[in-house]
Amino acid sequence: MSSPRELRRYARKANAESGIPKAKFSQLLPYLGEHRAVLTFAVVLSVVGAGASLAQPLLVGQVITRVTEGELLGSLVWILVGLVVLAALISGYQHYLLQRTGEGVVFSSRRRLVSRLLRLPISEFDTRRTGDLVSRVGADTTMLRAVLTQGLVDAVGGALTFVGAIIAMAILDPVLLGLTVLVVFTAITTVTLLSRRIRVASAQAQEKVGELAASVERAISAVRTVRAANATDREVDTIIEDARGAYLMGIKVAKISALVVPIAGIAMQVAFLTVLGVGGYRVADGAITVANLVTFILFLFMMIMPLGQAFGAITSVNSALGALGRIQEIIAIPSEVELDRDLTPLIADAAGVGDAVRQADVAIEFDDVRFSYPKVEQQSAEEEAPEILRGVSFRVERGTRTALVGPSGAGKSTILGLIERFYDPTSGIIKLGGIDIRALHRDDLRSQIGYVEQDAPVLAGSLRENLTLGAPDATDEECIQVLKDVNMTKVLKRTSLGLDAPVGEEGVMLSGGERQRLAIARALLAAPPILLLDESTASLDGANEQLMREAIDKVAHERTLIIIAHRLSTVVDSEQIVVLDQGTVVGTGTHSQLVKSTPLYKELAKHQLLV
Ligand code: ATP
Repeated sequence: MSSPRELRRYARKANAESGIPKAKFSQLLPYLGEHRAVLTFAVVLSVVGAGASLAQPLLVGQVITRVTEGELLGSLVWILVGLVVLAALISGYQHYLLQRTGEGVVFSSRRRLVSRLLRLPISEFDTRRTGDLVSRVGADTTMLRAVLTQGLVDAVGGALTFVGAIIAMAILDPVLLGLTVLVVFTAITTVTLLSRRIRVASAQAQEKVGELAASVERAISAVRTVRAANATDREVDTIIEDARGAYLMGIKVAKISALVVPIAGIAMQVAFLTVLGVGGYRVADGAITVANLVTFILFLFMMIMPLGQAFGAITSVNSALGALGRIQEIIAIPSEVELDRDLTPLIADAAGVGDAVRQADVAIEFDDVRFSYPKVEQQSAEEEAPEILRGVSFRVERGTRTALVGPSGAGKSTILGLIERFYDPTSGIIKLGGIDIRALHRDDLRSQIGYVEQDAPVLAGSLRENLTLGAPDATDEECIQVLKDVNMTKVLKRTSLGLDAPVGEEGVMLSGGERQRLAIARALLAAPPILLLDESTASLDGANEQLMREAIDKVAHERTLIIIAHRLSTVVDSEQIVVLDQGTVVGTGTHSQLVKSTPLYKELAKHQLLV
């Protein structure tokens, strides 16, 4: 076995090697705090259980004395049996209570984590891997259960028995106790030092499980692309490599905890043999009686048993702290709501914001807006994030249709993301109904805006679930009407299921055009005064394009509409077209004005055979 100094160095090295955030024990307390009453009860049970256990050796000592002195045992035996049964019953019930509370801790950690996860700033999702986040909710939270089931309360009861046994042993024979403590103390020190290494290795193991989940998620979400590219074998190999990483880390944890178990075993044996040897000698010497030696040995077992529990508790608490680090990492990121906490909104509710939007002449205004996406972690500190919008200004009159056009990567989708406040501009002001959007709560702002993204995300589930996402109270009639408005009745009639028809994972059971129109229908059900529409880049065929145009014309009625158009034909009759190039506005006007004034627009129009 390594020396304590070596072990300490080993533990320090482990901490330094790992970039994983380590949770402190105090961070675990809020999770336990919720179950204060049950835990207190469990501790009380532990105390009673410990009392029942500690009384047993004393009674055994009494029994031996009475037998050696030829006295009657009387009710002593029955009391002893009663104590054994009581201790067993208490231990069973306590076990159930702890399992139940353990599940409670897992549940509350999942509740906390999910509530935070879905409210994180959008930029967090740009850099994090979905599967890893899912794994934190599934696997890491499960690890917290062990803290209670194999850990803490057992340790409390154990500690009481431990202390009680030591006191009794000190009274019986301080010399024997001194020897025992020496052996046990060495074991405790070794285990404590090893346990730090367990915490780090366990966090690394969880990290690997996260990577594994992320790789599986990546391959499954793009399974068609992977299959079509004949890349299945390579993806399988990558995933197996990640699984191997998790396996190797698991083995590392197993190796370190495997050291802990024999240490506990050896400590027990050495202590027992020492007590037996030296004790026998002391009995022969007349220093203690046989009854006292037997009682001492029983107390020794009583002291060592909780020690085993404590070692187990140290291992599982350390593993749980590794997992808790990964949970806390997410919980520590301020949510959008927290970022807005200090905000005193100019208008404090959605209805007020709605009134402002309905009354203002200008629905949306960009004033010299500059913006860069946050840098990714791997980028060096000196590296500048490229500026995506470089002083963009334009106004959108209420009730009109504005089209954003320009080459790919010009920054069109970014503009819509900024209106939704997924990100905030580096400088410049964006106004909604004349109010700086940073002076509004994001929920109130978003309640006025319908947003149909470029890839028209469709959620797995039914047509109805997709439609009512933003309008949970919408009736079936309203759903059917809005599907009619976007020319989707065909999908409704395709099966006998109507609105309950499934759309498949990410909407694979729908065509690209149908997905786009379903997304528009969803945005419309919430009846927002402003609609942002990022047209699909997928080349829709003529018939689909016609359906889309009709749908847009229907929804444009009495709404402010901003459309990112990849086909100019959909937007030539807009009141205003804003032409963007490399993050700047190079022209604003109607189609006929722009054809004359803006070469880039003329080029685009020529390309698409409109002039
Ligand atoms: P398209 O017509 O192809 O949809 P676009 O004009 O909508 O293009 P944007 O999606 O706004 O262009 O992207 C503008 C630039 O910002 C691109 O260079 C893109 O690579 C970059 N970009 C977009 N999203 C992010 C992001 N989340 N993080 C970092 N850079 C991004």
